[in-house]
Amino acid sequence: MKNTYKSLFLGIGTALATGASFALITPIPANTVINQAKSDTDNNAINLANANIASNDNPTILASNQRIEAQQPDRDKTIFYKVKQGDSISTIFNDLSLNTGDLHKILHNRKLGKQFTNLDVGKSLSIKVNSKNELLELSYKKDDTETFVAARKDSDFVIKIHSKPLETRYATAHVVIRSSLSKAGKNAGLPGNLTKRLADIFAWDIDFAQNLRQNDQFTVVYEEMVIGDKVVDTGDIVAAEFVNQGKAHQAVRYKDKDGDINYYTPKGEGMRKAFLSNPLDFAKISSPFSLHRNHPILNRIRAHTGVDYAASTGTPVKSTGDGKIVYQGTKGGYGQLVMVDHGHGYTTVYAHLSNFQKNLQSGDSVKQGQVIGYVGQTGLATGPHLHYEFLVDGVHKDPMTAKVTNAMPINKALQAHFKSQTKPLLAQLEQAKTTMLAKNGDQD
Ligand SMILES: [Zn+2]
Repeated sequence: MKNTYKSLFLGIGTALATGASFALITPIPANTVINQAKSDTDNNAINLANANIASNDNPTILASNQRIEAQQPDRDKTIFYKVKQGDSISTIFNDLSLNTGDLHKILHNRKLGKQFTNLDVGKSLSIKVNSKNELLELSYKKDDTETFVAARKDSDFVIKIHSKPLETRYATAHVVIRSSLSKAGKNAGLPGNLTKRLADIFAWDIDFAQNLRQNDQFTVVYEEMVIGDKVVDTGDIVAAEFVNQGKAHQAVRYKDKDGDINYYTPKGEGMRKAFLSNPLDFAKISSPFSLHRNHPILNRIRAHTGVDYAASTGTPVKSTGDGKIVYQGTKGGYGQLVMVDHGHGYTTVYAHLSNFQKNLQSGDSVKQGQVIGYVGQTGLATGPHLHYEFLVDGVHKDPMTAKVTNAMPINKALQAHFKSQTKPLLAQLEQAKTTMLAKNGDQD
């Protein structure tokens, strides 16, 4: 299956089927609806019963001649007005011979009155008056999501916001990487930080700085917040597959019973591992771990007991795991170094630093990913780089290949809950892959 899938995917354009939204529209909980959201029905209520004349949701009808007047049996009428260049709410009131006293009452509403003062050209106002041309209701459709309605109540006006409900749906994308991950995401029209979040999820399994290859590809299912048909925000990635150098990695979001959200493999192993694969965000290995290396300065064969990353002076250096700083100072050829004890026999060393992180000292606890110092060339170094060592029970290991423990496997007691929660998300991922396959087939 994996091979078929792979070969069929080759040659897909990067922009294939991005953001294809389908299925599972999940209404969000009532308390997340923006503002004092009313239902869409309320929004329509500001239109007349005579819906065939004009609807607030269909402003195109206004385009030709600025306003249309709708007669009501009780002689109330509604004027639909499209804001044009140079209009202000007072010029509009003047033009329509409306009582400016009413306008003042509306504008003096402390919270919402100002919504009627900055009218955007092209937006719609609807103005309901009675037979004596007294204002009953003024509403301004600010955008697709919000309409402000000032309704007469006795001698004053009450202003309300009518908002359309926010819905969450799933969107999917399949992207083939041609040059860089961020470029591929951009070309595919993915929301700005989605590829970064994808990289964060797989950061422990894929070294995005070193090991990304052309034609690596990913399929992602993510949440999209929509109002009506309009996408207003991007939510979490809920499931993803990343194929790196032919190897497929999958991750699925899981919210446990305490509400904690993390990513797991479909089997329930945490994506987050005890150690980051790389202490720098973007850097190239300039010298790998090796037991026999000709030392560039000493010019003799000597084991290189760590990995060197070329990076410019000042590049932040991150602790690859949670732990405690056990040494921060200068040590011979290492120059300025930080040593972190991670417990369970694991120790990491960061050398040739130009500076230590302010406010951190020996004995302090650090979190995985926390900046502990900055790249430099103190000690025996030909140029700025980070020398990174990884020790297990005091023995130097190659951090690239060392087997490390999983930071957080799923609790056994939660397995059943995990399976039931993630099954539909993984099904979405499979469906997305199948859909992409079908589309690819059509294109060939
Ligand atoms: Zn080194």
